[in-house]
Amino acid sequence: MVASLYGVDDERKTIWVFLEQRDGELERVSLEILFKGRQLADEAGWSLIGLLLGHQVRDQAQRVFAYGADEVWIAEHPLLEHFTVDAYSQVVEKALMNGHPSVFLCGATPNGRDLAGRLAVRLRTGLNADCTDLRLDPQSGLLTSEVTGFGGGVIALLESPHHRPQMSTVRPGVFPLGEEDPDREGHSHMMEVELSEDMISTKLIERVIGEGVDLTQTPVLVCGGRGIDGKFDMLQNLADMMAGEVGATRPPVDEGHIERERQVGQTGVVCRPKVAFACGISGAFHFVVGIQDADFVVAINTDPNAPIFEYADFCIVDDALQFIPALIEEIQKEPELAND
Ligand SMILES: Cc1cc2nc3c(=O)[nH]c(=O)nc-3n(C[C@H](O)[C@H](O)[C@H](O)COP(=O)(O)OP(=O)(O)OC[C@H]3O[C@@H](n4cnc5c(N)ncnc54)[C@H](O)[C@@H]3O)c2cc1C
Repeated sequence: MVASLYGVDDERKTIWVFLEQRDGELERVSLEILFKGRQLADEAGWSLIGLLLGHQVRDQAQRVFAYGADEVWIAEHPLLEHFTVDAYSQVVEKALMNGHPSVFLCGATPNGRDLAGRLAVRLRTGLNADCTDLRLDPQSGLLTSEVTGFGGGVIALLESPHHRPQMSTVRPGVFPLGEEDPDREGHSHMMEVELSEDMISTKLIERVIGEGVDLTQTPVLVCGGRGIDGKFDMLQNLADMMAGEVGATRPPVDEGHIERERQVGQTGVVCRPKVAFACGISGAFHFVVGIQDADFVVAINTDPNAPIFEYADFCIVDDALQFIPALIEEIQKEPELAND
């Protein structure tokens, strides 16, 4: 077995969170992980440290404390303004080799995944990717990361007893955003950064920011499956009436009825709306993981034995193509119904 660059004997009982930022603003997933990290650190009596890289980002430190960190390590440099895996992995590796944290967590975003993979190889440690839950044993200090495996058929619990840091990436939306405490204080530590252009093999030529939808933020999610036969305009009408968004299962996405960014589920987005509608959806596990944390689920299906009814709070055995237009008509007559 290959030894990691530092091991259990050299670890410090700390949890580090990589704080992803865009244009100097912290990404929501990093704040979600800070909140979870705070819970784990409190249970184990450890401290929680945020690691923030960028250009002129130090003014974000107070927010990092407000979301639970005891310390923030900050690396500022013009070459860190935008993410490049060369520059970021270099700086993060140095920070981890100085801080020797027991646990290091990143968002399972495109950049977080890129960074974590590179670091795992450099530090010769393991990486639990795309986790859906985390637990920390206060006695042994062992991190258990939950991932779905074999296409979602099993939940796997992964541990890394001999290698450090114990590293996991966490999917956006799986942990709630905690309450911000603006009075919380912490300690900032400015890192020395040595970077030059020749260390970076990628060059940012143009940045195109999509006008994409963020389904993780919507309070009402109206999802359609194969059973609605591509009638997403109808679902959009309903969603608009309730200030919500439209989501979908994989088949209508694959068939080109709706954009892929609206796919909900294991290989799509994990959401926590107040209300989720599941229209013409059978209830495969791969889809359900995307709405199982909704406060309230309404399912409409012609098949009374559809598995979705096992997850729904409100079960309607009916043709969605008739039920949804009728519901829209009722809301048009009495708009306050949309708030109930
Ligand atoms: C590795 C892997 C990852 C996957 N990831 C995802 C994922 O992220 N998200 C996802 O959604 N799927 C995912 N899938 C696919 C998933 O397993 C299911 O195949 C998919 O969710 C089924 O979609 P569906 O419910 O729309 O279609 P179906 O299973 O075909 O169900 C259609 C339902 O509509 C009902 N129905 C038909 N007509 C009507 C009507 N007029 N009114 C009301 N009800 C009607 C039927 O009774 C049926 O229950 C993944 C699969 C794999 C293998």
